[in-house]
Amino acid sequence: MNHPTRPEGLSLYRRWRPQRFSDVVGQELVVETLRRAVAQGRTAHAYLLSGQRGIGKTTLARILARAVNCTALDDGEPCNRCESCLRILEGRSLDVVEIDGASNRGIDQIRQLREQVTYLPAGSRRKVYIIDEIHMLTGEAFNALLKTLEEPPAHALFVFATTEAHKVPATVISRCQAFELSPISEELISELLLKIAEEEGLKLDEAAGRLIARRSGGALRDALVVLEQLAHVGSVSEESVVQLLGLPRAEDVDRFVTALLEQDATAALSALGMQARKGRDIGVFLDEAAVRARDRVIAGNSELIPIARRLIEVRAELPRAVSRSIHVELAVLELCGPPRPAASGEAPSANGAHAPSPPVSKAPTSVEASPGGVAVEEARAQPPGTAGGPAERPDDPWEAMLAACAQDRVSIAAFLAPAQTSFVDGVLWIRLPSECRYHYEALQAPTERAYMERMVQVYFEGLLTVHVEWEGEGREALTLEESARLAAEMLEGKVVEKEHT
Ligand SMILES: [Zn+2]
Repeated sequence: MNHPTRPEGLSLYRRWRPQRFSDVVGQELVVETLRRAVAQGRTAHAYLLSGQRGIGKTTLARILARAVNCTALDDGEPCNRCESCLRILEGRSLDVVEIDGASNRGIDQIRQLREQVTYLPAGSRRKVYIIDEIHMLTGEAFNALLKTLEEPPAHALFVFATTEAHKVPATVISRCQAFELSPISEELISELLLKIAEEEGLKLDEAAGRLIARRSGGALRDALVVLEQLAHVGSVSEESVVQLLGLPRAEDVDRFVTALLEQDATAALSALGMQARKGRDIGVFLDEAAVRARDRVIAGNSELIPIARRLIEVRAELPRAVSRSIHVELAVLELCGPPRPAASGEAPSANGAHAPSPPVSKAPTSVEASPGGVAVEEARAQPPGTAGGPAERPDDPWEAMLAACAQDRVSIAAFLAPAQTSFVDGVLWIRLPSECRYHYEALQAPTERAYMERMVQVYFEGLLTVHVEWEGEGREALTLEESARLAAEMLEGKVVEKEHT
């Protein structure tokens, strides 16, 4: 790249802003068409440049503005040294006007434009009007603009930029030569970052460069802003990018992907829950998971292909999802299949030694699995364990209930699966291990709770109350009453355990 001026204090993005068509990265076709039009003196009266943010639309508009006015044009490229180029570069030109459609929706500026566009340029060949985010103009402003576009003075050149071309009236588009700029590929951004870092005397890890490129979503500007924020340290590692962008840690992502591969719904939901607790964006987490899955596919694990594909789909669906987290949870449950009920005693690393948890006991075997006279149509509509879990044991109401939940509300079944249960004096205690705080919180939602309570009423005859507990930190102190009950329960649990052995 050719950079005539690099004043200190300017942001990286400004310093590295392309000044010639040939410096523009990733838009070869558009750039070449424009350069050739300038070289042949056959530019249109109006251009519309559309495409996502951060890919160089206004940069291209400014290069074009200089090129059509340059007095030392070099094969369509502005020289950036002549008086005209310098005036425009330094923002001193009266003949290049930039209007931001987003800031005031433009009516006054468009009115002014209409008055002034008819006057000859002050010291240039062409009067150039660059209107950024043109789709934000009001209908009135568009109408005013249209009148000018219908009969543009020969010296006028309009360059419109928009991130949302579909919001620009067709009457305006039809009077423009329209170009769509593409997002810039990760490879190109990554290469460019390494090159810029080198020239700036910055140490940038290749992995860090790739990560920044990936997270920029094709917007070179965003990538440079990230690089700049890390530049003061002098060396940029992958870890520093992860921290700055608040990205999920690689091992967390890997754990999630592995859980999906092993169809372990509980572990996958736990991994999601952990991200939510850390305040991480679930979309970013899915992006990273898709990338990780893809990497593992490339490394030879073809089983992950459908998983990677589904992750990408779910990510794309997120903006339209009513609840982002539920949407992802359901997708996880679809991928993993019905959750496996935790066989008591081998609940996932349950509760370790520290939690004051009572020994597990199965609910009393005398309890019938059939819905004895309890009037809960909804739950009864799902006979227990019809197509249910692998272990259909009618003598175990808990597992029968989980199997029925898995048919009907698969997320609730997954939330309950890692729990340990005990049944004492008409109370069903559902205890979730410390790593399942997310499950615990999800079960507190009124609808989830109501459903769970109805199911429990159906499967545990004579039950009055359901208590859901979570064994993690920050657990509320037990009341005296609860402690007493807990003690009674522990005793009961021991007795039951003895019966089992
Ligand atoms: Zn020039």
